[in-house]
Order: sequence, then structure tokens, then C-alpha cells
Amino acid sequence: MQELPGEFTTFDFPAGVPAPFNFAAAILSNQKMLTLLEKLQTAPPLIPMLIEGQPFIDAQDELSVTEFMRKYGMPERINEEVFIAMAKALDFIDPDKLSMTVVLTAMNRFLNETDGLQMAFLDGNQPERLCAPMKDYIEARGGKVVTKMPMKKFVLNEDGSVKHLEMRNGDIVVADEYISALPCDIMKRLMPTQWATMPFFHQVKELEGIPVINIHMWFDRKLKNADHLCFSRSPLLSVYADMSTTCKEYADPNKSMLELVFAPCSPIAGSKTNWIAKSNEEIVDATMKELERLFPTEIGPGSPDGVGAKLLKSAVVKVPRSVYAAVPGRNKYRPSQQTPIPNFTLAGDWTSQKFLGSMEGAVLAGKLAAEVVSDKAAGLPTKGVKTVQDDIVKSAETVVPQEPIPQFGDGPTVFGGGAVLTPAAQKEMVDNDPAMVAQA
Ligand SMILES: Cc1cc2nc3c(=O)[nH]c(=O)nc-3n(C[C@H](O)[C@H](O)[C@H](O)COP(=O)(O)OP(=O)(O)OC[C@H]3O[C@@H](n4cnc5c(N)ncnc54)[C@H](O)[C@@H]3O)c2cc1C
Repeated sequence: MQELPGEFTTFDFPAGVPAPFNFAAAILSNQKMLTLLEKLQTAPPLIPMLIEGQPFIDAQDELSVTEFMRKYGMPERINEEVFIAMAKALDFIDPDKLSMTVVLTAMNRFLNETDGLQMAFLDGNQPERLCAPMKDYIEARGGKVVTKMPMKKFVLNEDGSVKHLEMRNGDIVVADEYISALPCDIMKRLMPTQWATMPFFHQVKELEGIPVINIHMWFDRKLKNADHLCFSRSPLLSVYADMSTTCKEYADPNKSMLELVFAPCSPIAGSKTNWIAKSNEEIVDATMKELERLFPTEIGPGSPDGVGAKLLKSAVVKVPRSVYAAVPGRNKYRPSQQTPIPNFTLAGDWTSQKFLGSMEGAVLAGKLAAEVVSDKAAGLPTKGVKTVQDDIVKSAETVVPQEPIPQFGDGPTVFGGGAVLTPAAQKEMVDNDPAMVAQA
């Protein structure tokens, strides 16, 4: 809690109570964050969402969270108390930057689904516990999963359909249907010139990945205060958890391992400092100072021995282009999975689907993409290509298409991922994507 450092507060959803009553009970029974009057003032602006549903939610995309609050007379303190933590957890950015549609989409799920706010951790590392079972499933059914084989470019037929994929190692991949789940930033740079002038693909320029940093910290003792997923309003930190308590693979009764999202970490996300460009040491030092503030009785001079938990080792994972920045007005530019190209379908969390930029969103986009391909194959009607905005149709008329910009280097950041960067890898990241560092 801001005014009670070292103390946490929870929203307790009573078991066996259906939505939305469990949500109401959780809000009303929390006595530490908002007064009853503030809670009552917060509810009316949310009523249209309950009545009108998704159309109301989508219509709020032009407003930031802060603008929505002011427009509907929500008490200012709800920003400090709730929306800062929520905005940073949902998109790694501050509420004055985040589209209200994102917050309402999440709230709508809490209000409509009894388990909508359930948090869960994978019980171990992702390659073994998430990816390997999926690979096994596909291979058991005759499929093939190929990794570490980047695509270099889309090669097109004269009519704009995909002829084949050219891989970086020179291989040619020919298929009946092509589904791309490239991140939006990579899709933009590999965009074939023939597609660049088409309004459908031109709209992708309106989307871009937001930088974020993930920090892993191993301590010499067990921290007692963080026994669940924590949502922080700290200016530097967002969501964090003690993995030694919350995740089976890292379980340790004696030593804590914190995983923290460091956000916002760049000016476009709301930070005054461009942390992506800072050294790992500077980022860890700033995090330790912040942890001293958040855990005053366990870390730093306020601890009983005057020192507190000591950091044994750390890893700073920089993700220069993570989920698309859900700043106001972006939702309308998210393309449908179906494209105007008959043998090419899009997937990825940034394409149009209701679950925001998230793992769930990526899965749903994949399902929608599969639906497009299977409906077409079965001769069934599809949901169609999403209408492109008039401003995009107009600007596409004068766009001068650029040649695709190849990705170079082998580090994960080149492919839209995150990594612990050595100075050489940091340079590769900057060389690959100077625009990101310039704007970050
Ligand atoms: C720090 C952090 C914390 C997060 N926490 C959560 C969370 O708690 N819950 C949640 O739901 N979501 C979370 N997310 C978001 C989640 O990770 C993303 O929404 C999700 O991974 C998006 O999946 P995707 O398949 O659309 O894209 P990605 O996971 O980005 O996959 C795109 C793939 O394309 C590949 N690729 C790129 N270029 C090429 C090429 N030329 N050839 C071949 N392949 C290429 C990449 O290697 C990558 O594997 C978090 C993200 C970050 C960065």
C-alpha cells in the first residue's frame, strides 16, 4: 500500500458466489483502498458497459483511462488506487496513455465470468511445460514443428498471393495456405511492396510494440510479504511474484526468487527515463531501491539487521518490442485474421480479437485464423475481412511502398522477443531497430 509501505491489500472473491455478485462483494469488502462514497461514485460510469456490452467498450477506445475517468466524473483517487496498477499490468503503460477499452474489457470479464479474475501460474519453465506438450501433440498427429529457422521474406505471385516463403537458410517453403503469427513490428518490416499499398496491410503501421523489462532476482533468504501475484502502483514496477512460493519448479522454502515486470520503461509508455537504453546494473540498482521502499522491513536499512535480504544474482530481460501499445484509438486498426490475400491469414495477439494483447489473445487469434482456413477449405462462409478505416484507405492511395527491411542478427530481440543483453547484443538491438531506441 502506498501509504502503508510493506503492507498489501487484497480483493477477496467469495467462493461459490456467481459473477457479478462476487466482484461486487470483493470491491465492497475491501476497506483499505477506497471509501464507500468513492466506490459508489465509480459504479455509475460502468453501468452502460453492463447494459450495452462490447459496443460501449469498443466506443471508448478513443479515450485514455484518465480521460474516461474525468469525462464520467470518477473520483481522482481511483486512478492512484486502482487504475495505475491495472494499466501497467494490462499493457505495461500508465493510465494516461492506455485506452479505456483495455480496462473495460478486463472489467467486463470480471463482471460476467465467475472465474474471470482467477490468476494462475505455469508450474515450471515455458519451453518444457508449455511448448513441449504442444509440440508433442502436433507431432503425434503427423504435424511437424520447426524452430530456429527464420523466414527471410514472403515471395509473391503477380496477383499478390503468396508463392512461397524464403527462409534465411535458403530453403523454400511452399504451402496451400500460409498463416503468419509474426509480431506486428516484424510484419511491418517484412511487408512485401505489393501489399504495402493495400489499405488492409497499410493499417498495420498504426500499431507498434511497447518496450518492457522483466527482472529475475535471487535473494539469500525468504521474503515473507509476497505470497501471491502482486499488482504494484510503484512508478517503476508493475506485476511481480515470488516464484519460490508461487511456482512449483522454483519452490524453495529458504530463498526467494522474485520475478518483476519493470514498467513503464520508456517515454511512450509513460516513463521519464528510457530504461531500455540503460545498463543492466542501473536497472537492478533502481529496482533494489524500489524494493527497499516496498519491503521496508525485509530489504534495506529498515530491516532488523539494518541490511535485510541480499541479492545473490539477477537477470534483466529487455523486450524492446513486446505487446502492441494499446494507446487510444488503436483498436480500430487491428486487422482481422482473414486478409484480402486468398492464401494468407494473420494470427498473433495484435490481430482483432477480444482478449487484448495477451497469451489468451494469441491463442484466440490462432483459433480464429484456423477457422478462416478451415471454413474456406470446407466452402463455408467466413466472417470476412474487417472493414478498414477511411483515413487509412485515403492515406494508402499516396503511400510510397518501401522494400522490406530484413531482420539481421540472431538474438531474440531481433524476432520481437526478450533477452538478457550483453553490450554487443544491446548494440545489435539498436542497429536492428533504431526507431525503437529513438522513441523509447
Ligand atoms: C514481460 C512480459 C510479461 C507478460 N506477461 C503476460 C501475462 O502474465 N499474461 C499474458 O497473457 N500475457 C503476458 N504477456 C504477453 C504475451 O507474452 C504475449 O501477448 C504473447 O506472447 C503474444 O503471442 P504471439 O504468438 O502473438 O507473439 P509472440 O509470442 O511474440 O510470437 C511471435 C513469434 O514470431 C517469431 N518470429 C519473429 N520473426 C520471425 C521470422 N522472421 N521468422 C520466423 N519466426 C519469426 C518470434 O520468434 C516469436 O516466436 C507478457 C509479455 C511480456 C513481454
